[in-house]
Amino acid sequence: VTGDPRLHRLLTQGFRCETCKDQHIGIFDVAFSSPMHWTGSTEKRTDEEVHAALAIGRDILTNNFCLDGEHRFIRCIIPFKIHDSEETFAFGVWGSLSTQNFQHHLDDFFSPAETLMRPVFSWLSNRLPESEDRSYKCRLHFRPRPDRLVLEIGEEDHPFYSAQTQGLSVQRLLEGYTLTGHSLRDASDEH
Ligand SMILES: [Zn+2]
Repeated sequence: VTGDPRLHRLLTQGFRCETCKDQHIGIFDVAFSSPMHWTGSTEKRTDEEVHAALAIGRDILTNNFCLDGEHRFIRCIIPFKIHDSEETFAFGVWGSLSTQNFQHHLDDFFSPAETLMRPVFSWLSNRLPESEDRSYKCRLHFRPRPDRLVLEIGEEDHPFYSAQTQGLSVQRLLEGYTLTGHSLRDASDEH
């Protein structure tokens, strides 16, 4: 085994989480249930209900879409390679879309034909650990189904900007877990 022994432990026996009390085995993604300014219920409606909500101007949160007043969001991921491994970690986040791009993507989502939009502008609409409490400029990359859409942070001062190309150390991964509510406490004692 090469690299950080805590990674090997996480991938095999795992760590007991002091926060959610789960035994976490393997890399797990950290997902935000809604865009950061969403104040409605976090209980998800079905994706099919978005059409009706859009037609009458009602706010809605589903697994893949969110309408909040004038704002439109879709679910996507920001993936990171983990150093010295073949593993990938991802934040599950929400990215904003213009009205026009949202409609285009919504049509594609429910169309049987596989079309792929070109990358578009998006605001990262969740606060990642250690980042400022604001939206960050991003590019949203559409992916063939069933792959998840990928958000690329476009501002260099975001704390996870360089990790998009350089990957995450196991130390940083574990810190990220702690800061998002998963204390893998004995991970710091493990050598
Ligand atoms: Zn946990």
